[in-house]
Amino acid sequence: MNGDALSGEKTANTNFALINTVALTEPFSDTTEFGHMIAKQFFLLGGGRPIVQRVGDFREGRRSSGSTFNSANRHFATCKATYNAVPGDITLGMPARIIDNLWESLKKADKIVPGILHPSTLLYAPEIKFFDTHFMTDENLETNVNGIFVTGDGAGKSRGIVGAGISGIIAAIGISKKYF
Ligand SMILES: Cc1cc2nc3c(=O)[nH]c(=O)nc-3n(C[C@H](O)[C@H](O)[C@H](O)COP(=O)(O)OP(=O)(O)OC[C@H]3O[C@@H](n4cnc5c(N)ncnc54)[C@H](O)[C@@H]3O)c2cc1C
Repeated sequence: MNGDALSGEKTANTNFALINTVALTEPFSDTTEFGHMIAKQFFLLGGGRPIVQRVGDFREGRRSSGSTFNSANRHFATCKATYNAVPGDITLGMPARIIDNLWESLKKADKIVPGILHPSTLLYAPEIKFFDTHFMTDENLETNVNGIFVTGDGAGKSRGIVGAGISGIIAAIGISKKYF
């Protein structure tokens, strides 16, 4: 999970992203291309915009639509959408394996933070993250170029704030062991 918010513009909502890591082997191992395919499907389905679906619709296996999107009868009035995405069906654009994994995670998250699965909760899709270049290093994050250490997302060593920070500490310890 991660989250992002504008510092100068506040709404009543909070948000987080839920990411399922996909590893492919044979006969097709290009996860970047796989991610691009999913992005293209959503681009088509949403007419160029991301898709948003109410949890209540998701649970009932139906698409969200403009006519019922804010329906009080369906308990959709609680969480107001603050982003202009297209109401639709995120399960049409995402492989079943990923949908299943995300749904299992959401059910667990709802136990920790009750209310996540309120019918009005908004599910936006897609969010797709790609790993960057992977630099080969030893356990101290030193590359095969003597004295060059790499850390963080750009070197493929992390994909989040904590991991990036930890990789920096590992490299710093490696440098101090080598030179001091
Ligand atoms: C929208 C968004 C939301 C995110 N939300 C979360 C979250 O909620 N939780 C989480 O854990 N992670 C989140 N992340 C990921 C997280 O921000 C990164 O994993 C983390 O910042 C990577 O740290 P880093 O030090 O490797 O790289 P960066 O933070 O990108 O730092 C690299 C620095 O190098 C500088 N730089 C680049 N080129 C040069 C150059 N030639 N010379 C000098 N300086 C240069 C850049 O300006 C930058 O300051 C989010 C990322 C984005 C984009």
